Amino acid sequence: MLQCHIDATTDPTIWQEVLREGARLLQAGELVAFPTETVYGLGANVWDAEACARIFAVKGRPEDNPLIVHVASLEQAQDVVACWSEAAQVCAERFWPGPLTLVLPKNPAISDVVTGGGDTVAVRVPGHPAARALIAWAGCPVAAPSANISGRPSPTRADHVWEDLGGKIPLIIDGGSCAVGVESTVLDLSAERPVLLRPGGVTWEELREVLPGFESGGSEFEQRTTAKSPGMKYRHYAPRAPIHILAGAPEERVKEIVAAVQAKKAPLGLLCFTRTAALLEPWVVEALDVLKVFADDDGVREGAAELFAAMRGCDQENVALILAEASERGQLGLAYMNRLEKAGE
Ligand code: AMP
Ligand code: MG
Repeated sequence: MLQCHIDATTDPTIWQEVLREGARLLQAGELVAFPTETVYGLGANVWDAEACARIFAVKGRPEDNPLIVHVASLEQAQDVVACWSEAAQVCAERFWPGPLTLVLPKNPAISDVVTGGGDTVAVRVPGHPAARALIAWAGCPVAAPSANISGRPSPTRADHVWEDLGGKIPLIIDGGSCAVGVESTVLDLSAERPVLLRPGGVTWEELREVLPGFESGGSEFEQRTTAKSPGMKYRHYAPRAPIHILAGAPEERVKEIVAAVQAKKAPLGLLCFTRTAALLEPWVVEALDVLKVFADDDGVREGAAELFAAMRGCDQENVALILAEASERGQLGLAYMNRLEKAGE
């Protein structure tokens, strides 16, 4: 088992060697974990149904939860779909490479293993250059869900992949922390009107700019997704400890934190934004076993990027309860809240 760290400072020759080894393994029917800008992926050659089936076995993933097919270019996307629409072209030109997955009628050559038996396929061009080089060198589209044990928080660093899959796959390519940190947005373009199936790295506000009249991605989207996106019905993204979401007025949030600290009998974690952290008295902060503060930045960018790593950090400290602060549901806040609510189910 090989774990290779590659970053901007790495000698390009080593980069090439590692990615070529990954490409060789994919061609040989092996599974390879690799960095993307969203979360780490666990890849298999899409044309090798047996390798794709092994993804489900290694992750413990339910078989009806289809895989996203990663391609190196817009041209390669055409190999996996049966037809390409005007809306697909517009979205691909605007958001690829990047965290937007398009659901389209599948090329019949794509195995049922990949699509969960359905007649559509999910496809995207990842933004991370290492992911695109790996796919290009493998010479095949790569089916890849997140590289974690199903149900656990998604991996945003190579050591998260190691935690879950160490010893089970031959290669983990370490490209550092994932910049976006939440999964791709899944947009269904197989029906008459575009439907948001999962909020993610491309925001609903950005999508609306190119898809005029696109439906709201508010909380009601959940009901539609369960029927249309099989994966959304499962418990997801969950750390071991239960999560309590702090969603009241600012002073109520602080009261809840203080009450939890006072009642505390086991390790307690708090994930919150700067504004709330600034309201906590020092004795409260000291009593917390894990405190992760996300910047109050524009669009919940840091909260989204660091949520999964923070949940895993709580697990490592054996936290028994996680208090996690709600964000606005705009921009990346929609994905942040979706993951938090799923994790807390
Ligand atoms: P993951 O790879 O773990 O991030 O999960 C992939 C997500 O994409 C899941 O929520 C799937 O349900 C969704 N997905 C993949 N393929 C399709 C498809 N053909 N139709 C609808 N949703 C899909
Ligand atoms: Mg996943």
